[in-house]
Amino acid sequence: MAEGTGMRPIAKETIHKLCSGQVIVDLATSAKELLENSLDAGATSIDIKMRDSGLTSITVTDNGHGISPEDYETLCRKHWTSKITSFEDLDGVTTFGFRGEALSSLCAVASVTITTATRDSAPMGMSLEFDQNGELVGRTAVARERGTTVVVSGLFARWPVRLADLKKNSRREYTRLVGLVEQYSIICDGVRITLSNQTARGAPVVSVRTPPQSDRLTRLLGAFGAQLRPHLVHFEFKAENVSLEGHFSRPEGGRNGSDKQYFFVNGRPCDLPKAKKLVNELFRGYCPHKYPVFAIAVEVKGSVDVNLTPDKREVLIRCEESVLLGLKDALVRVLEPDMNAFSVSGVE
Ligand code: ADP
Ligand code: MG
Repeated sequence: MAEGTGMRPIAKETIHKLCSGQVIVDLATSAKELLENSLDAGATSIDIKMRDSGLTSITVTDNGHGISPEDYETLCRKHWTSKITSFEDLDGVTTFGFRGEALSSLCAVASVTITTATRDSAPMGMSLEFDQNGELVGRTAVARERGTTVVVSGLFARWPVRLADLKKNSRREYTRLVGLVEQYSIICDGVRITLSNQTARGAPVVSVRTPPQSDRLTRLLGAFGAQLRPHLVHFEFKAENVSLEGHFSRPEGGRNGSDKQYFFVNGRPCDLPKAKKLVNELFRGYCPHKYPVFAIAVEVKGSVDVNLTPDKREVLIRCEESVLLGLKDALVRVLEPDMNAFSVSGVE
């Protein structure tokens, strides 16, 4: 390497593009971020409409509190958020978002239009257009009920490598999104969520539709399939720092794939690889080559860090050992009344 090539700071716009490409990595993440924003806005009805699995556009419409005119200018600026102001706020954060990154990143990788109305402004609202840097470049008054619609079109149109990958994998991505949306539809009581996809040919195909005023089990069966009802067992476990509650399929309800396995930590859908491994190993003892379906809500007091990855799917739980032990204890009871009958690996 040549000596003295010199270091210089990367231009602000370039940094914005580089970082945005890490926050918005694919179709499913884009739609998931918009869904989370709608939930954070207190919406009770959310429609996610994909055109061509999201390749052409992703439209998310909610009936949440809307966006006030004083926030229009800064809405899509990097690290502008209405959710936290200091690092300490993270401990008590109850919203899905808090970094103020999603909208600004979407602006960098796609075209973004936001139409919104608050209780005060409805039945009038404003349609807002943003440029690649998240700056507001156009506004038009429109008729609109309270709530917000975000349209993201031409995702990665300016990023040829990503776009090629997206085109190749758009159907797989859509399937992944169905799984993600199902998780929110299960855990978010009192919220009606739909997800549909429309291609150039044919009518929209509805992939997720939460029944209104439904209980957790009804929503679960919507996601897992009503035929699983006789095989699902409800369980609860309580210890000092941890409580677990959920539905789990008995061996007769085993499936060929491990796709319908959902964990929630303090109300947040997330991945818990160690817990997943433990559960699958346990299950295999009763039903070789099959996987259980489950939706398990973990509540832990304090000591959870959700700020590990851009998509917040990974969480760090200080009392993870207690979670794993509790899970093992609860599921052994579900699977085998004689809980001393066998042991499993996976928990140190
Ligand atoms: P974050 O969710 O981390 O705050 P985002 O970039 O996702 O960051 O959103 C920025 C801000 O835009 C939010 O803090 C919120 O104030 C506002 N916002 C985004 N989507 C909506 C929505 N659907 N309804 C109301 N406000 C929204
Ligand atoms: Mg957000």
